[in-house]
Amino acid sequence: MSRGNKKPTIRQLDEKISVMVSRVDGFLNMIAQELEKHNTLILKILQRDGLIHEQECNHCGGIVRTPMLDGIEPVELCPYCEQPMDNTEQTTLPLAEEE
Ligand SMILES: [Zn+2]
Repeated sequence: MSRGNKKPTIRQLDEKISVMVSRVDGFLNMIAQELEKHNTLILKILQRDGLIHEQECNHCGGIVRTPMLDGIEPVELCPYCEQPMDNTEQTTLPLAEEE
């Protein structure tokens, strides 16, 4: 009592794969948009509270924003051009003046 089981043709498989790929694409886009919203929200909150350090890269002029929160280290490499950021203003202590 074997049923005539039809194997899907290559074309049918192709169509199924296309549908799956477009669903995955849509899902990933949705996630990316959601993450973007969250990033914007977090940035706005930190900016409102004065907890964002903005620094311009000396090499490419990109603006690098670092949250000033415990456990978050200042950025050492520019995320845009991967050149070292000039963090001397943060790491150099002012010289003690003699009186
Ligand atoms: Zn840069």
